[in-house]
Amino acid sequence: AAGGPPAAAALAGFRAGFGGGVVVPGDAAYDETRAVFNAMVDRRPAVIARCGTAREVAEAVRFGREQGLEIAVRGGGHSVAGTSLAEGGLVVDLRPLRTVTVDPEGRRVRVGGGATMGLLDRAAEPYGLATTGGRVSTTGVGGFVLGGGTGWLDRKFGLACDNLLSVELVTADGRTVRAGEDEHPDLFWALHGGGGNFGVATSLELRLHPLPVVSVALLMWPPEAGPEVARVYRDFLESAPDEVGGGLIHLTAPSEDFVPEEMAGRLACAVLVTYAGVMQELRDVAEPVLGLDHHAEMFAELPYADLQCMLDDPPGYRNHWSAEYLASLPDRAVDLFCRRADDMIVPSPSQHVLFPQGGAVARGPEEFPVPWRGAPWVVHPFGLWEDPADDERAERWAHDARADVAPWSTGAVYLNFIGNEGEDRVVAGFGAGNHRRLAEVKARYDPGNVFHLNHNIAPAGP
Ligand code: FAD
Repeated sequence: AAGGPPAAAALAGFRAGFGGGVVVPGDAAYDETRAVFNAMVDRRPAVIARCGTAREVAEAVRFGREQGLEIAVRGGGHSVAGTSLAEGGLVVDLRPLRTVTVDPEGRRVRVGGGATMGLLDRAAEPYGLATTGGRVSTTGVGGFVLGGGTGWLDRKFGLACDNLLSVELVTADGRTVRAGEDEHPDLFWALHGGGGNFGVATSLELRLHPLPVVSVALLMWPPEAGPEVARVYRDFLESAPDEVGGGLIHLTAPSEDFVPEEMAGRLACAVLVTYAGVMQELRDVAEPVLGLDHHAEMFAELPYADLQCMLDDPPGYRNHWSAEYLASLPDRAVDLFCRRADDMIVPSPSQHVLFPQGGAVARGPEEFPVPWRGAPWVVHPFGLWEDPADDERAERWAHDARADVAPWSTGAVYLNFIGNEGEDRVVAGFGAGNHRRLAEVKARYDPGNVFHLNHNIAPAGP
C-alpha cells in the first residue's frame, strides 16, 4: 500500500548502502529518468532505484517494502498504462541491468532483465542468430517476453515466451529464484504470459535460431483501395509459409523518397510483408500482394537487427491502444476495419493495424496462459498523437475499432497490447482456468501482492 514519502534518514541510509544509483525528486536527472513512452503518463515516484545487479534489485524491493512504498518495476517503459511508474512510490529501474551474453554453439542468449530487444538483436546478429522480438527495437525484454511476445518472426519461431528457457527472479521477499523446466516449474509456467506478477526478472535465457538475413516489402495505396487490398492480403496469408510476417496497416504516409508527394502526410493503406529469408523467396511467395497495382513500394534485404530499428516509433507522444483477437475475417469484418481508419488522427504516428497470427504461434504449446495464440487475426488500433485536445477522439477510435469487429472476436486478448480495460479483460487475457492457476502461483511467490502495478492477478485465498 502506498504510504508517504520515505523518511529523510531512511532514504539517506538506503542511498549510502545501495550499490546502484538513486534518483529522487529535485535531482537533475529526475524528469528524464521517470519519463516513459506514453506521454500521458506523468507520475512522480518518490524514489527511482537504478539497479545493475540482482542484489541491488533485492535491496530496492526490501527498502520499498520496509517504507511501505508502492513498488513499480521498470524495463523498457513501453507499457501503455505506464505500469512501470508508481506515484509517490519506488521504481525498481532495471535499465542498468542489460548485459547480453550469446552462446552461439548452444543457440541461446542470456539477457539482463532491463535490456531492450534491440540490444539482444544486435548481440545475436554477428552469429546469424535471432529470436522473436517485438516490432520495434526499444521494447524491454522483460515486459515483452513475460507477457507473451509477438513480432515479425513469431509465425516462424513462435511467441517470444515459447523461446524462454529460464528466468532468474527476485521475489517479493527478496529471494533469488531460478525458474526453468526443472526448477520451480509452476513459476516457469506462469512466466509464459503472466507478466510481472511474480517477481522481478533479473535475467532471462532465450532460444536463438539461425537467421542470416530477412527481407521486407512495404507497399502503399490510397485508403479507398483498402477493402480490396485487405481481401487479397487475407487470402494470401491463409496459405502463406511461416516465414511470412508483417501486417496490413493504415497509417500516415511518410515523406520518403519512395512515397509520391501527393500521398505524403495523408492516410494510406500499407501492406508490410516481412520474410525470414532472402528477397527472391519473398517476391515469389508474396506475388498475390506484390502483383496488385500499388502507389508506393520499398524493398530491402537486411539483417534482422536492422529491420527491427527501421520502424521504431517515436517516444513522447500521447498513447492509447487496444486489441481484438478474431476467429475469422469475413468480407464484412474487412470492410468495417478499413472504414474505421477514417477516424484515426492523421497526420500522426498512429496505426490502424491488422496483424496475422497462425504458423508457429498457432501450433505452439497449448498449456501456456496465452489463450489468444489460436486467433488467426488481430485488430490493433495503436494510437499516438500530440495534442491533449485529441485524447477523447483517439480513445473513441480505438473503442469503435474494437466494437466493429466484436462479432468475430475469440474473446481472448493479449494484455501487452492494451492498457487498463478492467478486470474482465485481465481474465480474458489469461483465460479463466489459467487465471485461477496463476492466482495460486501468485499466492506462493507474492502473497502480499507487492507486484501489483501490472495486469494484476490477485493472490488466491487460502
Ligand atoms: P515497462 O513499461 O517497463 O514494463 C511493463 C511491465 O512489465 C512492468 O509494469 C512490469 O510489470 C513488467 N516488467 C518489465 N520488465 C520486467 C522484469 N524484468 N521483471 C518483471 N517484470 C517486468 N508487444 C508485442 O508483443 N509485440 C510488439 O510488436 C510490440 N510492439 C510495441 C511497439 C511499441 C512502440 C510499444 C510502445 C510497445 C509495443 N509492444 C509490443 C508492447 C510491449 O510488449 C509491452 O508494452 C511490454 O509490457 C513492454 O515491456 P517494457 O519492459 O518495455 O515496459
